[in-house]
Amino acid sequence: MLKVIHDIVQKSIFLLIGFCAYNKGLAQSDYFFPPNARFDESIPTPEEYLGYPIGTLHTRHDAIVGYMRELARISDRAVLDTIGETYEHRLLVVLKVTSPENHSNLEQIRQDHLKLVDPAESIEDYGSQKSVVLLGYNVHGNEPSSSEAALLTAYYYVAGRNAEVTDALDDAVLLIDPAFNPDGRDRHSTWANSFKGDPMVSDPIDAEHNEMWPRGRTNHYWFDLNRDWLPLAHVESQARIDFYHKWYPNVVTDFHEMGTNSTYFFEPTKPFGSENPVVPRDNYDGLNNLFAGYFHEALDEIGSLYFTKEQYDNSYPGYGSTYPDIHGALGLVFEQASSRGHLQDSRMGKVAFAFTIKNHLTSSMATVRASVGEKETLLKHMENYFNSAVEEGKRAGGGWVFGDQTDEGRNGEFIDLLNRHKIETIQLNEDITLGGKQFKAGNAFYVPNEQKQYRMVRTMFEKVTTFYDSIFYDASSWTAALTYNMPYERYTGKAALRGMTIDENYSGSTYASVPNSNYAYLIEWDEYYAPKALHYLLEKGIYVNTAFKPFSIETNDGVKDFGYGTLMIPVNRQEINSNLLHGFVEEATDLAGIRAYSVNSGYSSSGIDLGSGNFRTIRQPKALMLIGGNVSSLEAGEIWHLLDTKVGMPVTKVMTSNVGRIDWAKYNTLILPSASYGGLGKSTIDRIKQWVREGGTVITLRNATSWAIRSKFVNAKFGDSPERDTPERMNYVTAREFRGSNAIGGSMYMTDVDITHPLGFGYTQRDLPVYRNHSIFMAPSEDPFNTVVKYKENPLLGGYVNKTNLEKLGGTASLIVSGLGRGNVIMFADNPNFRGMWYGTNKLFFNALFLGNMF
Ligand SMILES: [Zn+2]
Repeated sequence: MLKVIHDIVQKSIFLLIGFCAYNKGLAQSDYFFPPNARFDESIPTPEEYLGYPIGTLHTRHDAIVGYMRELARISDRAVLDTIGETYEHRLLVVLKVTSPENHSNLEQIRQDHLKLVDPAESIEDYGSQKSVVLLGYNVHGNEPSSSEAALLTAYYYVAGRNAEVTDALDDAVLLIDPAFNPDGRDRHSTWANSFKGDPMVSDPIDAEHNEMWPRGRTNHYWFDLNRDWLPLAHVESQARIDFYHKWYPNVVTDFHEMGTNSTYFFEPTKPFGSENPVVPRDNYDGLNNLFAGYFHEALDEIGSLYFTKEQYDNSYPGYGSTYPDIHGALGLVFEQASSRGHLQDSRMGKVAFAFTIKNHLTSSMATVRASVGEKETLLKHMENYFNSAVEEGKRAGGGWVFGDQTDEGRNGEFIDLLNRHKIETIQLNEDITLGGKQFKAGNAFYVPNEQKQYRMVRTMFEKVTTFYDSIFYDASSWTAALTYNMPYERYTGKAALRGMTIDENYSGSTYASVPNSNYAYLIEWDEYYAPKALHYLLEKGIYVNTAFKPFSIETNDGVKDFGYGTLMIPVNRQEINSNLLHGFVEEATDLAGIRAYSVNSGYSSSGIDLGSGNFRTIRQPKALMLIGGNVSSLEAGEIWHLLDTKVGMPVTKVMTSNVGRIDWAKYNTLILPSASYGGLGKSTIDRIKQWVREGGTVITLRNATSWAIRSKFVNAKFGDSPERDTPERMNYVTAREFRGSNAIGGSMYMTDVDITHPLGFGYTQRDLPVYRNHSIFMAPSEDPFNTVVKYKENPLLGGYVNKTNLEKLGGTASLIVSGLGRGNVIMFADNPNFRGMWYGTNKLFFNALFLGNMF
């Protein structure tokens, strides 16, 4: 029976993709590989290993790893590395394929290769060096053809007997990473396989072609890993970057899928407009054009249609095809029209899964061909790239001084990011004042420009505000220091700043344990990780208060100033004894990496005393978040990830289709990520309003804020929507550029935060950079105390925005609050948790969660 089904499936595929003869194994090879390809028969084909022909099923990730492991077991051309694992414990693997001779000498080859990256070294003989090619696949889990192509590519280079293969393996080291995003891949593959019909259904509306929320594009936490090469918010990217910097590949591929009605895309991307400002021009003018010759030749050969140059963004450094460009390599994006499922109708006939796989396989082989054919050019490009980086950095002079004076958690996270990107950082051993900002030794750090990662230094600190054109596929600003709300200044002095170079083991201050107190403990709220300690204490049933006014008081560390939001834990009002409480306070602060202070008197030397009514008891948040439907899975995932990894707090995720089953009495905080929420219906909206009136807190983000205003949760208003400078008539061909110039893509703005409002507690400066990638303009609240975060006049920090929009934006609200009965509605116009990189604005969200009922 199984055999019969197998044959039927195979035959139907053959008809679709034009096989004229059926011959197991050989037919697969004939379809996918060049006519002259010859293989070592002792190596199993993917079909022989998997039990089905490639293209007839979506291969599970464990089977992909299994096949790679089998190749490594049988062949002396292949070795399998495990470089990490995903949140769902799927292995991240890289199959290293090269000649047996190279394998016997691989560590030496790697060491020799790293001389290209080291300006102190010079290369004498390029001929003996190897081209290192990272063949990366399937960062978007529901663009599945590429991992199947990875199986065939691995087979081709492990089993191939043609001179093209053996010569390539002499000259190159192939690093085959078959799945950048295994969790997302399996989520999608399971869906596509589950709904596959027999016979297959090519109707685009069939369930097979329309996955369920949150779909497989993203990872476990619903993040787009093809935006994460810069933020490194996720374990997959962290493992990948560690591996990347062990090898510094010369060429990196990044395979994708696009709309079913399209054809195929390879680089060059759109000239100038889509290019990254720090990447040298020879990358685009030289290497990209050189490689394009190989790609078009290979695709012409198999008769595939394609396009180039018209689109696709290559500017944002967090793409898998752009990060390599900023590391002396050639990063390459490929896009294949998706069959999304096994077979789907398009405007130009049916698109079969096998056909999409064949195109990516063909590009994989062309990439290796080009990487070998242009080896010397690639090696010289990389060597020159890092030499010129040091030269440019030296000409620029000086560097960047940074450091938050109170928040070691945020300093530590930012330093960790710089370390992971191999950016040299020095911890200064003297105080320095720059641009009116004081940086004190211990919390002052210096990144010199003169270093081989100079172009990554620019990526971290420079603001870009001039652009070639106005179309942005994604973001036009990514200055990492701003996303961390990190105080920083350009240092242009002649003298080199001295201190200790920071290594991977940097961990900030360590604190002696807090002495036992019979009166109270204090924890500062300006620490990024203070909410983690707070959550731990609330879980233990401890009463914790927050300070609505500053004070100074004698502590175990002398008299100390405490700011807004300081946590105060009294000893004798708790339901546990003082020793147990002391233990919990120690555990909470250890967990969060912060310190607590012990006090023996409630009498402050200035400001409020500890028994003041200006201390209010914090309610433990019982949070519920709506997901599913048209809720933004990216925003929902960012919140889920934030609470899991930064606070350690559970959040109940409820599908909007289940909203009628919620027992509202169990929760006090409702989180609404962006969505139209059109399906909720009047009775549900009324139920939520009633729950707010009884004391619930609603937190809305971006589009959900628009929804809350439209649904009359509050009296808030939208600001004036921007008018366009519309000319009377324009040529149709310019329409896309014109519309693009009126949109607000990802860009950064300066706001003013009210640090005396509970939602602003813990900020020590009023200036706060925010991220905006939408056109919702929210008017300030009519209540003078309710606009917590407001755009400054002329607020642009980095990125593209047109003049009209910029003028409208000044003075509008970024975060307002409004009361409803005994509850509150907290409305974010902007997303404070964007891409897991906005450590600066995360605190606003923490405050909404923990202090959202306190005004
Ligand atoms: Zn993609």
